Amino acid sequence: MAEKIKVLLIDDDEDDYIITRDIMDDIPRRNYVLDWTSSFEEALALIREGRHDVYLVDFYLGAQDGLQLITRAVQEGAKAPFILLTGQSDLETDEKAMRAGALDYLVKGTFNPFDLERSIRYSIEHAMSLAEIQTLNEELEQRVEARTQELAEAIRKLENTNRSLYEAQQEIHKALQKEKELHELKSRFVTIASHEFRTPLSTVLSSASLISKYKTEADDEKRQKHVERIKSSVSNLTNILNDFLSISKAEEGKIYNVPTTFNLKAFAKEVVEEMQGYLKAGQQIAYQHEGEERTVNIDKQLLKNILLNLLSNGSKYSAEGKTIRFTTSIANGAALVAVQDQGIGIPKADQAHLFTPFFRAQNVTNIQGTGLGLNIVKKYVEVMDGKLEYQSELGEGTTFTITIPNTAEA
Ligand code: ADP
Repeated sequence: MAEKIKVLLIDDDEDDYIITRDIMDDIPRRNYVLDWTSSFEEALALIREGRHDVYLVDFYLGAQDGLQLITRAVQEGAKAPFILLTGQSDLETDEKAMRAGALDYLVKGTFNPFDLERSIRYSIEHAMSLAEIQTLNEELEQRVEARTQELAEAIRKLENTNRSLYEAQQEIHKALQKEKELHELKSRFVTIASHEFRTPLSTVLSSASLISKYKTEADDEKRQKHVERIKSSVSNLTNILNDFLSISKAEEGKIYNVPTTFNLKAFAKEVVEEMQGYLKAGQQIAYQHEGEERTVNIDKQLLKNILLNLLSNGSKYSAEGKTIRFTTSIANGAALVAVQDQGIGIPKADQAHLFTPFFRAQNVTNIQGTGLGLNIVKKYVEVMDGKLEYQSELGEGTTFTITIPNTAEA
């Protein structure tokens, strides 16, 4: 025999229970068990137990009504179907019952065993279909959720790939740019080198051949003059070669900042001394250290190269007899060096390109140079984390000011 269907009647009127029980007894095959409760709270407790297959709920339940009970029970997750029993038969109650979660609606005193059986069977089937739909729905939601996560993951991976591709593209672009710059640098190097090397070399050649012609003691002075010219040309060549070497080292990122502690003023004086041999007739370097005389902690070699470059430019681009002012000072965790000349100045239009390798301003046609010195200075200042500034007036002079962090003070 099929298992009995358990029905719970929730009705505060015992007469109704008896009537319902009698109707139920008249249902053919009678495979129903009817339980009854008249209390709202007890009904909720029984519904929570979930032992029944269907609930018949009276519209009137003392202070509360059946719709409230159905609403509460459905909210609490009741699975079995509700059928509302009421004395009224109107569309409004029917709709309210359905909205609250009842699956069917029977008007008391009007339904017969057949109606009750049909309503119970229909409600149970309906509830099962609903449960099935709900399960399917939940499964579907889970699948949608999983799929959404997969898609989000795929999008994230795509974005990462995209980012890597973009970065790779940027890298390639940078490498190509560097390659292009190197290529330009090389071709400019060939042009400048052939020009700059030829001049001192032809001096060496002509002076050497002249020396070989001066045979007597009376020619001693002339001979000496040409020996000096050879010496100066060779030292010029050495300087140019040193510039080339420095530039290629800087290009390869092989310049390092190695600070040591030394007395800035004493060091600057040595540099001024070293410069004496390079100055034009009547030129002088007026050196002054402003403020306290203290030791600094700075890369000495880099600073020396910077100063030699700036001072020799100051001399090279000034006329004979001019003074080159050279100042040093120490303040606020930095050392400051400034080189000021009264030379030819730099045309405004050329100033933007001053630090480009091999660049030379319009107004230097007769003055020898490679256009590398300032580029080297700039690179050294960068390596030392310093700051380079300049100010120049055409025909009046130029001032270069460099500020270098001094770790002795930090
Ligand atoms: P070089 O002196 O060998 O040409 P630099 O890199 O030292 O190369 O200088 C680049 C250019 O900047 C010079 O050719 C010159 O036009 C200009 N310049 C640099 N220093 C001075 C200066 N003190 N006075 C005038 N022009 C200068």
